[in-house]
Amino acid sequence: MKLCIALDLPKMSENLSLIDSLQDFDDIWYKVGFRSYIRDGKNFLDKIKQINQNNKIFLDLKLYDIPNTMADASQEIANMGIDMFNVHASAGSEAMSGVMDRLSNISNRPIVLAVTALTSFDNKIFKSIYHDDIATKADFFAVEAYKSGLDGVVSSAYESLSIKEKTSDKFITLTPGIRPTGSDAGDQKRVMTPSMAKEQKVDYIVVGRPIYQSSNPQEVVSKILEVC
Ligand code: C5P
Repeated sequence: MKLCIALDLPKMSENLSLIDSLQDFDDIWYKVGFRSYIRDGKNFLDKIKQINQNNKIFLDLKLYDIPNTMADASQEIANMGIDMFNVHASAGSEAMSGVMDRLSNISNRPIVLAVTALTSFDNKIFKSIYHDDIATKADFFAVEAYKSGLDGVVSSAYESLSIKEKTSDKFITLTPGIRPTGSDAGDQKRVMTPSMAKEQKVDYIVVGRPIYQSSNPQEVVSKILEVC
C-alpha cells in the first residue's frame, strides 16, 4: 500500500514546504486537486518535480465532460508528465474508453482511475442523487471502468474488496477518507484507519488534513508508513 498526500493547503509555498520536509521518505505520492491546480496551475506541478524528479504526482481533477473533450484533456495531462489522473465513471464507458484509446500510443502513460462515489457521501445523500446504494453503484462504476480499460478506481476503503472481487486483484483502488486513529473525520463520512484500509487490499490511501494540519507532519507520515 502507498501513501498519497493531498496538497490542499492555502498557499503554493506552504504545499512546497510540506513536500520539501518529507523528502527523506521514499515513494510518497502527492495529490494535486482543484484548490491547488486552479490557483497554481502547471507551475506548481513543475515545482514539485523540481524538488525531486521522483516525486509522483496524482492530478485529481475528476474529468467529467463529453467523450471528445475528455480524451483531449487526458492527452494534455499526459503531455505534462503527470503520473496519475482521474475521470468520473459517471461520464460513461464511451468517454472512459475514448480516454484510454487516446493514451494508447503514449509510452509511459499515466495511471488512469475513475471516481466511483465521493467519500463525503453517506448512503442517504448518495441514494437521493443516484437512486441506488453506494455499494451497488460503486461496484457497477468499477466494472464499467475495468471494461473500459482503466487502471483502477477512486472509492472509499469500504468498497475496495468487493471492487477487486468483481474486477481483478490488480485493479487499483485509491481511497480518500483515511484517518489515522484519533484524527478528526471533518466532512468525510466513510472513514477508515490506514491499517483497516490495508486489510481491504487498498493500493493507495489518500490523507490530507491529518498530515498538513498537524504540528508534526513528519511524525504522522512516519506512523502511516509503518502500516503501509
Ligand atoms: O483532508 P482529507 O484527508 O479529507 O483529503 C482527502 C482528499 O481527497 C481531498 O483532496 C478530497 O478532494 C479528495 N477526494 C475525496 N473523495 C473522493 C475523491 C477525492 O475526499 N472521492
